[in-house]
Formats: sequence, structure tokens, C-alpha cells
Amino acid sequence: APLVGVFALQGDVREHVRVLEGLGARTRPVRRAADLTGLDGIVLPGGESSVMDRLAGLMGLKEPLADAIGAGLPAYGTCAGMILLAREIQNPAPGQGSLGVLDVTVRRNAFGAQVDSFEADLEVPAVSAEPVHAVFIRAPAVLRAGGEVEVLASVPASRLSAAPPELGLDDAAQVPVAVRQGRVLATSFHPEVTGDHSFHREFLRGL
Ligand code: GLN
Repeated sequence: APLVGVFALQGDVREHVRVLEGLGARTRPVRRAADLTGLDGIVLPGGESSVMDRLAGLMGLKEPLADAIGAGLPAYGTCAGMILLAREIQNPAPGQGSLGVLDVTVRRNAFGAQVDSFEADLEVPAVSAEPVHAVFIRAPAVLRAGGEVEVLASVPASRLSAAPPELGLDDAAQVPVAVRQGRVLATSFHPEVTGDHSFHREFLRGL
């Protein structure tokens, strides 16, 4: 069975571990650089990306993690994990950086506050024949996706809490919420907290 690391300095680590082990993977919490040795893949959970970024820096994990993913370690980030993977954050917290291994610009909390959380059934033909049930909790949106980034699912820009033109989008735009670039997969939403594990299955399939 593949050995999947779960970034464990902050976030909904246990939920990912439960899903991954339920699908037959072995898991290892990742808190320091040495924990990366021998992994077949790594998951970056939902949580608070600015805290994750700061703690990863303090623990000396940030650079080794970015290097490992850059060198081909398959990665899957959900929500805050997507932000951590991104090349650019449009509205970072003060001092917040990222790993820069996924060529997208993300906007944090793009759909509003906690109270604006929503659920949607998304068409994701690349991942599942059935619609994927998605939960968005203070979720990021992808405002720009680089040429090598494959958009797997989108929602209408009308879902955004800011006027799309203010974000450089037109009102009819579709905003990516699931993307893939090579072996890096990211979703704005949290399959680890719904019963729909299509994305985890898709991630494990590639390992
Ligand atoms: N808004 C959070 C952040 O900026 C992400 C929320 C989540 O992971 N549910 O990291």
C-alpha cells in the first residue's frame, strides 16, 4: 500500500488520515523534514493557510517540502492546502507566503466568511462519472491558472463575495475550484469532511 504523508502542523489532519486509510493507504503525520523520507505522496489539509505557512517555516519544513513536491512528490491540497501549494496569493495575511509549486493565483476566503459556507454538486468528468458533492468553508478560488494547469471543476463567478470585475473577471466567468498540474492536485473544497472520496481515490490512483 502507498505511504501517504499528511502535513500535520495544523488543520483537519485526522479527517484525511481516516479517508486515506479507509481507501487502503498507509499514512504518516509530517511535522519535520525527516518525515518526508520514503513517502509516495503528501496531503495538505484544510485549516488556516497563514498558520500552516508560518509553522512550516519555523519547523524548517517549508523548503524541503517545496523541493520534494517540485521534484515530483505527488501532492493533494484541500482548501488551505490549495493556498499553501499556490504560486501566488492575491490577498495574503501579513507575511504569508506559500510553497509556490502550483502555477495558480488564489484568493483566500473568496466566497465570503464562515457563514457563507455552501455546498454544491460539481461535474468533474476527469475524476468521477457522478457529480462530486463539495463543501466550501471560507474557501479559496483560483483567479488565474497557468498554461500547464488543468481545470477539473469550476463554479460561476457569481458565487464570489467580491464583484467579479473587481477581481479582473467578467460576470459570466467560471472560477476554478479543482485543478491539477502534473502530480499536484488541489481543491477549494473539503472531500475529507464529506462522504465523497472521489478526489482521494483519484490521488491514490496516481501513486
Ligand atoms: N480561509 C482559510 C485559509 O486562508 C482556509 C479555510 C479552510 O481550509 N477551510 O487558509
